[in-house]
Amino acid sequence: MPDPAPQPNFSSVLNEDQLTLRDWVHDFAADVVRPAAAEWDEREETPWPIIQRAADIGLYSLDFVVTAALDPTGLSLAIASEELFWGDAGIGLSIFGSTLAAAGIIANGTPAQQATWLPECYGTPTDIRLGAFCVSEADAGSDVSSLHTRAVYDQATDEWVLSGTKTWITNGGIADLHVVIASVDPALGSRGQASFIIPRGTKGLAQGRKFAKMGIRASHTAEVILTDCRVPGHCLLGGKDRLDERLARARSGQRSATQSAMATFESSRPYVAAQAVGLARAAYEYALDYTTKRIQFGRPIIENQAIAFTLADMATSIDAARLLVYRAANMAATHQPFLHGEGSMSKLYSGETALNVTSQAVQLLGGAGYVRDHPVERFARDAHIYTIFEGTSEIQRLIIARETLRQLG
Ligand SMILES: Cc1cc2nc3c(=O)[nH]c(=O)nc-3n(C[C@H](O)[C@H](O)[C@H](O)COP(=O)(O)OP(=O)(O)OC[C@H]3O[C@@H](n4cnc5c(N)ncnc54)[C@H](O)[C@@H]3O)c2cc1C
Repeated sequence: MPDPAPQPNFSSVLNEDQLTLRDWVHDFAADVVRPAAAEWDEREETPWPIIQRAADIGLYSLDFVVTAALDPTGLSLAIASEELFWGDAGIGLSIFGSTLAAAGIIANGTPAQQATWLPECYGTPTDIRLGAFCVSEADAGSDVSSLHTRAVYDQATDEWVLSGTKTWITNGGIADLHVVIASVDPALGSRGQASFIIPRGTKGLAQGRKFAKMGIRASHTAEVILTDCRVPGHCLLGGKDRLDERLARARSGQRSATQSAMATFESSRPYVAAQAVGLARAAYEYALDYTTKRIQFGRPIIENQAIAFTLADMATSIDAARLLVYRAANMAATHQPFLHGEGSMSKLYSGETALNVTSQAVQLLGGAGYVRDHPVERFARDAHIYTIFEGTSEIQRLIIARETLRQLG
């Protein structure tokens, strides 16, 4: 008998606090982010002045993330993500990129480690800090079980020594704090991995190549090179006793709790999905407005059923994606396990929706959609990342299929 379908216990009618939050983030996205989007996309640089403005109003802060994450319905962070990324996905990721590092600390750190390191991911408006979450390697993208980066314990000094190269890391090398997943026992695959804090100024940590990208170009993406990087024992998230117990369980063939990288991705998927919903909505709204104004054959092009039906499909998939996001965010907040791959469903569907809807928006604008005078060209480039990072669409399908097969026994 399959596990029963989850019972959502959220309302899609937003409460007063959620509406206030939505309007506050939307105003920032509309007034500050959207007008700056084309410039920072062209510059392909971290938009420090925009991050500063987000910090000044408290949007770029640990306080904001903690308050939003404490919403018992789980919806607040999803609502904020949708609105910010409606403004621009590249700038949005520059502002919310540190949150993945924070999620890594929350997923694997002790309360004391969280208290020490979470503020370091954001800093203050007068001393802005960035965080980075480093899993991917050249030979370990989808297959995170085959990481080559090693962490070796030096008992004499109570230090961990990390070596390896991480790739495609958001904020990589420019972050003040890097959360790095490394293998402590390669024979155990992902069960032999652990998360480490590499604080700013650690000797042996360097930025490698910075990548020139197709989209989200305001977000910095680079290699992170670790050469005999020594960090104190307390930089192992979760602590050594917990790691030793976990490794012993794995070596004796017992089932273990969720692995380091997976624990982070599980918790962050619905919020990355919400970013994709925001981007899709931006494209839909722009196309809707354009098609009501563009006159061909003597009437607005939206009066053609082919155009109106395309917009109907776009609106439907955006709403469906948002409902999947709210369900997954609510389940995560209320500690319901994703027994049917609900987190992956939200990421898969929202990512594909962003890709399809932005592409449809380009088509609805015709030639105007293909040139940089209108933002839909950028939206379409940005959208591709949502079927790639935080687990590709294929990997989300693998997870959903695995859960489905598990349900069948
Ligand atoms: C802009 C950007 C920012 C990023 N930020 C970060 C970050 O901050 N931190 C971080 O750790 N990583 C980050 N990444 C890395 C990202 O998570 C990986 O690119 C992603 O997980 C896919 O890995 P890969 O690129 O190696 O693709 P591959 O794993 O090589 O996959 C290539 C193709 O094969 C498919 N595929 C692979 N295995 C299977 C399978 N078993 N079945 C079916 N299909 C399969 C994939 O779906 C994909 O279509 C970022 C990447 C980009 C581009």
